[in-house]
Order: sequence, then C-alpha cells, then structure tokens
Amino acid sequence: MRKPNLLILGAGGVGGVTAHKAAQNAGAFGTITLASRTLAKAEAIAADVGARGHGTIEARQVDAQNQAELEALIGELDAAIVVNVATPYVNVAAMDACIGAGAHYIDTAVAEDEFVENVPAPWYGNFEWPRKPAFEGKALNAVLGMGFDPGVVNIFCAHAKKHLLDSIESIDIIDVNGGDHGRYFATNFDPDTNLREISEDVVFWEDGAFKTIPHHSRQMSVTLPVVGTHDVYSMGHDELHSLPRAFPEAKRIEFWMGFGERYLQVFNVLNTLGLLSSIPVEVDGVELAPVRMVKAVLPDPATLAEGYTGECCIGCDIVGMKDGERRRVLIYSTCDHEACYAEVGSQAISYTTGVPVMTAALLLARGEWDPQTMVNAEELDPDPFLALMPKLGISWSVMDLPVDGGWPGAGD
Ligand code: NDP
Repeated sequence: MRKPNLLILGAGGVGGVTAHKAAQNAGAFGTITLASRTLAKAEAIAADVGARGHGTIEARQVDAQNQAELEALIGELDAAIVVNVATPYVNVAAMDACIGAGAHYIDTAVAEDEFVENVPAPWYGNFEWPRKPAFEGKALNAVLGMGFDPGVVNIFCAHAKKHLLDSIESIDIIDVNGGDHGRYFATNFDPDTNLREISEDVVFWEDGAFKTIPHHSRQMSVTLPVVGTHDVYSMGHDELHSLPRAFPEAKRIEFWMGFGERYLQVFNVLNTLGLLSSIPVEVDGVELAPVRMVKAVLPDPATLAEGYTGECCIGCDIVGMKDGERRRVLIYSTCDHEACYAEVGSQAISYTTGVPVMTAALLLARGEWDPQTMVNAEELDPDPFLALMPKLGISWSVMDLPVDGGWPGAGD
C-alpha cells in the first residue's frame, strides 16, 4: 500500500513540533509538507528540522482560510492526511477543502467565528458536527480536537471508562503550567485564541445540561504531581462540548486551568478596558478587533521557548464506581519546558499539542484508527494511542486519589 502524503497547516509553535515529529517518523508517510500563511516561517522550521537531523520536509505558502487555494494545494501534493495546527478560524475552509479533495483531517481546536463571542454550547454543533455526513459519505476520517486538551484528556476519559471504572460520576480536567518564561505577560499559544477562551463566559456540564457562569468565578486548589499546589479556575474549553455525549452518566464535567497572580492582574486590566474583545472597533477609519492589536504587541508564543523553565501537568481527575466501590483516579502527563527546547526548540505547551496530533496522524497512516467518519477523540479506541504517544515523547501515568476529594501531599 502506498504511504500517505502528509500536509501540516500552520508554522507556529505547534506546527514546529508537529513538523519535527512528522520528520522523525517519516517512514510512515510519503512526502511531508508544512504550509503556512508566511512562507518564511515554514521555511525556517523546515531548515531547523534538517539542521537537527530529524529528516526532510518541504515548505509551502498557503492561505488555509481560502478553501479553493487549500484544496488545490492538497490536490497538487496528493496529500492524504491534513493536520490543521493553524488557527481555529481556518477550520471551516480546511474541513471543506479536505472533503473536496478527499483527504483525512485532524485539528486541535474547535472552529470559531472570528467576530462572535460567547457562542452557545455545544460549540462542535456549529461548524464541525454538521460536516460529519460529508466526511462519512466519502469514508474519510476527521479527528477533532486532537491536541492535549482537547485531545489526550478526552482519550484519558475513554481509558478510564474502558479500563479503570465501571461507571463515571464526575470528570475534572486540570491543566497547570508550573513553568516560567521570564516575560512580564505572554500567552503560551496563539494569543487571540487563548485570551478569547479565558475572557469568555465559563461553560461546564452539570446534571444533564450546560451551565454558564462568569469567567474566574469558580476556583479550587489542587496538588498535582511535579508541579505541586496551585489555584485553578473553572474555564470553558473545547472538550466540555463533546464529552457529555460520550459520558452522559457523568453528573459533572468541568475544566480547570491554573493562573498565576501576575497573569490575572494583567488579564483583568486588559479585559476591563475592553482590549480583549473580538468585536471590531473603528480606529482612524480602520476596523480592528482590539484583541488583534493586543496579539500584535505580545510575544510570539514560539519565541517563549528559549529559557523557559519548569514543567506542566495536565490530567483528568475522574470519580466513579469500580466493583461496587467508589474510586477516584488521576490520569496525567507532565512535560518539561527545557527538555522540549533541547529536543525540538519548543516550549512544553506547543510540544504537548504537537506530539498528540502527530500520534493521531501516525495511527491514521497505519490504519490503526480508521473510523471513516468524523469523531471526537474519546470516540476512538484509546489503547493504540496511549501505547504510541510515549514513543513520540510524552508518557502518562495513573494514580489513585482519596475519594473524599483531598490531594495527597497538599499542605506539605
Ligand atoms: P501560533 O499563533 O504560534 O501559530 C499559528 C500559525 O498558523 C502561524 O504560523 C500562522 O501564520 C498560521 N496561520 C494562521 N492563519 C493561517 C491561514 N489562514 N493560513 C495558513 N496559515 C495560517 O499558534 P500555536 O502554534 O500556538 O497554536 C496552533 C493551534 O493549536 C491553534 O489553533 C491553537 O488553538 C491550537 N492549540 C491547541 C491546544 C490543545 O491542547 N488542543 C493547545 C495549544 C494550541 P502567521 O505566522 O503568518 O501568522
């Protein structure tokens, strides 16, 4: 069987890691191409992949938000798998281009309308799920939200259901970055997407319905392996919009993210002034979304990698029943910023997104995942994924936690 040609979209922090991991696993693919809006950025990554001895990839220019242009590129390259790690604004055009050209599709974030805020849940119902029949009609695979969160955490939930628990009562997804990039204020991935998801109302699942509350209005303290004790805040996040379909018995599904004091201070000032809005305002005759201006002056996430120290820990705290007893498990991974930089020149947030997306691409390339339709990650068999991901650079662990809700090591 001919090996599939791979096309990666987006030469940012995640695109860089994805390109390195693709090149390191080149045996599974035919050609590997990284295409982005700015050709020079794709060329720089391709050069770095070669310089580190990871392999050879091609660089191309494309506006992935232009469906016709992207479809033509997919056709020209004869790409069978398209990995979209650009911005969520390109998802619609990228999905439609894949359907048109007959390519499998993987992304890492739910599609967003550029100038619309606080879209009602479930977000996947707006642009992704309506395209499921088109993928299925052509027996094409579309794996949605396949970074770490969303992505691996969805797979951790599937693993818990398959191997650890007989029934699931609650799922808390917790993401703590215990690292330090040394900048006054910066976002670890695309500022536009990151600041938008933090400033929007929080959505979580409880008692059979999506609930909405103001951002940063629910807080708790957690003590996680490696990163220790942190305050985390409930936040709306992509995975909450698909997990209730797979785990309808769960009374609550919620996402929590750690924020430092400085981050919250700056965020609150920007937000209070309206500078995080995606709704354009007119400035000297020019229409501009304020968050775009903020993005333009913040550090490029890809530039944070050098000198970034510390680790991040992301996992699922899941409570349920096992053999008639209540059980609470933490399924998690940790990742070291400095180790990522040494290996592929990235920070851990990009690394923990690029590794899973390439793990999924490899499983599609080998035919180990082949749903021939559109799926969210939790709908797939977690076993081959969790066996392969450590070989690409991210291991994972399971630990039992006290069923009373406490944290081992808290207050030490
Ligand atoms: P960056 O901003 O670093 O990179 C995005 C890249 O996409 C840039 O190179 C940009 O080009 C390119 N791009 C943007 N629009 C287009 C377009 N129309 N056509 C072609 N290329 C385009 O972001 P990250 O790499 O940090 O994040 C990438 C994606 O990963 C985002 O969607 C983010 O939401 C997602 N993500 C998911 C996570 C998860 O765990 N699931 C975690 C972290 C990120 P240019 O340089 O010209 O602007």
